[in-house]
Amino acid sequence: MSFTSVNPYTQKKIKSYTALSNQALDQKIKLADRAFNDWSELSLEKRMAYFQKVAAYLRREKQRYAELMTAEMGKTLKEAMAEIEKCAVGCDYYLEKAPQFLADLTIETEAKKSFVAYQPLGIVLAVMPWNFPFWQVFRFAIPSLLAGNVGLLKHAANVSGCSLAIEEIFRACDFPAGAFQSLLIESKTVESVLKDSRVKAVTLTGSEKAGASVASIAGSQIKKSVLELGGSDALIVLADADLEKAAEVAAHSRMQNAGQSCIAAKRFIVEKSVKKEFTDRVLHHIQVIQQGDPMSEATTMGPVARLDLAETIDKQCTETVQQGARILHGGSRQGCNVQPILLDKVKPGMTAFDEETFGPLAVIVEAKDERDAVKLANQSNYGLGSALWTQDLERADRLARQIQAGSVFVNSLMRSDPRVPFGGVKLSGFGRELSDVGLKEFLNIKTVWME
Ligand code: NAP
Repeated sequence: MSFTSVNPYTQKKIKSYTALSNQALDQKIKLADRAFNDWSELSLEKRMAYFQKVAAYLRREKQRYAELMTAEMGKTLKEAMAEIEKCAVGCDYYLEKAPQFLADLTIETEAKKSFVAYQPLGIVLAVMPWNFPFWQVFRFAIPSLLAGNVGLLKHAANVSGCSLAIEEIFRACDFPAGAFQSLLIESKTVESVLKDSRVKAVTLTGSEKAGASVASIAGSQIKKSVLELGGSDALIVLADADLEKAAEVAAHSRMQNAGQSCIAAKRFIVEKSVKKEFTDRVLHHIQVIQQGDPMSEATTMGPVARLDLAETIDKQCTETVQQGARILHGGSRQGCNVQPILLDKVKPGMTAFDEETFGPLAVIVEAKDERDAVKLANQSNYGLGSALWTQDLERADRLARQIQAGSVFVNSLMRSDPRVPFGGVKLSGFGRELSDVGLKEFLNIKTVWME
């Protein structure tokens, strides 16, 4: 069995990678298990010193890793450079906060002493997608390893080069052998890894199908799981919004990374009185997108990562138009290069409203008023992120609480930021990443009570 990386822009093969044999896989798990004993015994200061090296190393080698990402999955080099920087910023953040997050928490009771200690679980398996091939991995690995766990990565099959490069980063920064390893395995092999008694927990970022499968295996083994799954985020624009800013951010949110972001604004829900003006402004921002070679500085949108993803977007667009939507922009495609699409008159029951769209497809949905806008936003099986545009912050505070999502960003781009928890509700998954909440997902939150 082997995995082949194909450049989505040129469609040329980059490299083939051989899958691990069962024996090699077992050796890796054995090494991780051994590494956990030593790694978890190190002081936090010592573990932090390793991550100081990682931050510096990422910044030093940014160009090389960014080029690898761009070649394997097609994001623009500029986006890839920003992604590596984000990983380094993630290190900076946890280096500053880990001592506070991991300190014992004293709780006043009638006992002589009562407190909570935060202790690592052991080997955590990370099943990760290709769309942010470095950031998705680092946002798990930084807090988890700092807290004393060790990591095994099963990355998406189309980014095996990135997977091995991430393992190389930990090696180059002198981490003990086994503290972080990549496993080139098929998704069907995840079951046996997760059932291995040495593996204690799993985090998965990906589709609902993969999430449901992995969480049920974890459940059968009574192992903790965190699921970061798909989304169909609403971006609500109310009549009093700053329409130009909202339109610019909406187009960026939807089209960045060629539309392949779980938290992209996938449904623009706009109050009727401003719909025409907002739509015209969005259309302008979409028309100026420069498609082309993702390695070129002039390109602002690269190809989608695989042909099947491009075909799915085509299909979802065609179906939605057949169901009554109107196409305002886009509709053509060459291989993985999908022209950005803007659809108007989209309603519940249409494909692009009901399904997650993972590509450059923006839709305009008309809302009668704020109440209708929130109702439409919540009319989704997903609940990952969302955005709300209004200049009335009291109103925003009230409405934000009514939106069924893991995050609501008001007058701003919905994004993942290490300082705030990230995750979803409904079919978008459970558990959280980032901030202190994410750091504590894979810890034994141990109560100690002394009389
Ligand atoms: P996917 O097919 O679920 O793949 C994600 C990862 O899961 C890959 O490593 C894949 O391996 C593995 N996998 C697939 N099926 C599996 C199974 N049955 N058992 C174990 N592992 C399995 O996801 P995708 O469609 O490529 O990625 C896009 C999805 O990820 C979208 O739905 C997107 O919204 C979601 N996503 C969510 C977040 C978030 O933070 N919530 C962030 C990014 C992406 P193979 O490649 O070998 O199949």
